Amino acid sequence: MSRRELPCTLPLLLALGLLLAAGPARCARPAAENSQNSPAEVPGALPAEPLRAGEGLALTLADGRIQGFGDIQRVAPMGSLAKLLWLRLEGDAWMNQGMEFQCRGLWRGFHCWKRDGHGAVDLAKALQQSCNLAFLAWAEESLQRDRRQFGEDLTRARLEAVFQPFWGDRVRPEAPLPMLGPAWVGDGDLLQTSPEAFLRWLLAPAQAQLLAQARRLLIPSHVPERRWWMKTGTAPTRHRGSTCAWVAGSDGTRTAVLHLPTGRGKAEGLARFHQLLGIPGPEVP
Ligand SMILES: [Zn+2]
Repeated sequence: MSRRELPCTLPLLLALGLLLAAGPARCARPAAENSQNSPAEVPGALPAEPLRAGEGLALTLADGRIQGFGDIQRVAPMGSLAKLLWLRLEGDAWMNQGMEFQCRGLWRGFHCWKRDGHGAVDLAKALQQSCNLAFLAWAEESLQRDRRQFGEDLTRARLEAVFQPFWGDRVRPEAPLPMLGPAWVGDGDLLQTSPEAFLRWLLAPAQAQLLAQARRLLIPSHVPERRWWMKTGTAPTRHRGSTCAWVAGSDGTRTAVLHLPTGRGKAEGLARFHQLLGIPGPEVP
């Protein structure tokens, strides 16, 4: 429903007055204000142009409110955004240990999406180029460390604290965890989210350190003037062989999550993110 169609009646105004008098609700999570596909008419306001069918963009406004455009509640496999979950869980440890990995395209029977491999990667390069195998190898090390130090139950609890919102009921509390494999880094439909849900997760205070790390790792040191970090990802869709695209990013003030529907890839996602947020570019890798 557009704003023009909102009924403007006396009871509504009275209810609004009562709500304002009561102050902000602390328990209820307000729904994102959804402006459908209409860009704001104020110059410089976002998104810079209308969304297309199937696209969903959730973003924070300057005052911190969340605003949504298009299909912001459509849940889909999250693709490489899953690497941000690992960064949230292990980013500190992996940065302190100076993790390195040699990606030759194959590790323990798993293939990297880049057939010939990414070569030598550190955490920044693995995140920027989305090397699945580096993340899996490092995750395996971390899980072994946790199991040795804390045992199975605490290891699982630690994983659940970050991953449960994204695997939902695909992992039952009483069932064993799925084996570590590509699904844990976003290849498959184990981990899913929507633009609005992922934006809300990114904005939670618990993710403050993750946002700082993403900024450090995803903005190349040779372009320090770049304001936005962006994490792209592609994910499978129900249409066999087809993918959709995700982009999450922040300039330190505003944070946004964009999902593009079936048939759109990483490069299109990045270009569209630039376009909708009015960022010069795109700097397609
Ligand atoms: Zn790789």
